[in-house]
Amino acid sequence: MYYKQYGNTDIKVSAVGLGTMRYDEEDIKAGRLEKCAEIPLYAFEKGINYWDTAPYYCEDKSESVTGIALSQVDRKKVYVTSKTNFSTLESEHPTKDMFRRRLEMSLDRLKTDYIDFYHMWCMLSIESWERHMEELYGFFEEAQKEGLIRNIVFSSHMQGNDIETVVGTGKFKGMLIGYNALNYRFRQSGIKAAHESGMGVVVMNPLGGGMIPQNPENFAYLAEGTGLTVPQAALRFVASHKEITVTLAGCTTKAHVDDAVKAVESLVEKPADEIVKEYEGKGVSFNNLCTGCAYCKGCPKNIPIPKFMDAYNQKILTGKKDAIMDRLDNHWDIPASQAAECIACGKCEKACTQHLPIIERLKEIAG
Ligand code: SF4
Ligand code: SF4
Repeated sequence: MYYKQYGNTDIKVSAVGLGTMRYDEEDIKAGRLEKCAEIPLYAFEKGINYWDTAPYYCEDKSESVTGIALSQVDRKKVYVTSKTNFSTLESEHPTKDMFRRRLEMSLDRLKTDYIDFYHMWCMLSIESWERHMEELYGFFEEAQKEGLIRNIVFSSHMQGNDIETVVGTGKFKGMLIGYNALNYRFRQSGIKAAHESGMGVVVMNPLGGGMIPQNPENFAYLAEGTGLTVPQAALRFVASHKEITVTLAGCTTKAHVDDAVKAVESLVEKPADEIVKEYEGKGVSFNNLCTGCAYCKGCPKNIPIPKFMDAYNQKILTGKKDAIMDRLDNHWDIPASQAAECIACGKCEKACTQHLPIIERLKEIAG
């Protein structure tokens, strides 16, 4: 396994980390948590020592599964994360007690008395981040003083220049951000700023929400001459950035763990600028694709936005407008006419991690 230094700490982490939001759905539903825990145990065997979890992942079972595995390995050899924000505390104005109960629940599920990296979770905008700083950051600091959390970090879907603002405060040891071969131009300035300021940079969603493996022909350029599969090469694309510390790979099976390990075999690190030059001419960057993250859920008209946006992706990827209808009919089985129900309230666009013009696209689909 290839290891990297986490920012300006003395922590050495594996270049690929375990994303724990993809434990086998059927096993989760059936309560076979011990079976799911075989995945982090296998990852540990392969040298993956960074495990990223959170409340609500896998029907709120991910922390428990991860805890089962964590209790079976040498605790000091794994760096485990969890996350909280106003939503997990179910209040826009959380109290110290609410914060404490949520943290204790995570500790209990993870069967540990400390969390290595605790995230201020999913900062979608600078305004939201400012409110979290005012009302929540102090609780993080207190928990850190007590030794319940070791490092305060944040996760974000903000754009580059907003991330630079957060980084500039010097309040965080590291950050978690979505970055991949689809959106790299859009996110690169934030990653560089964090790295230059001595922060660890962890990347989620390196496969573009499944978009890359589902459209291998569009991303074949990533794998050219590497002997890797397209998904492996997409992981390697991210992990090879000097500015990126850990690339999270969501693993359902042991084969997924093997893919992640293979992706960073004899890794060569390069500065982001060099990587951009290398890939610029070979492929295209799709900053305007929906990644299927589903942060836009909760439409008041019950429009299945990620499905509509996935269908719109097909137009972008193939260059053919018909591809939208084809995807809606043959893949999602939803009528295009449902797009016309949008009342343009803007809720989804505010939450969209890719900052997509959802309303405009729905209008186009509705005809
Ligand atoms: S803008 Fe349209 S699609 Fe988005 S949440 Fe509002 S009604 Fe739903
Ligand atoms: S529309 Fe935006 S928020 Fe919704 S799934 Fe796609 S990328 Fe995510």
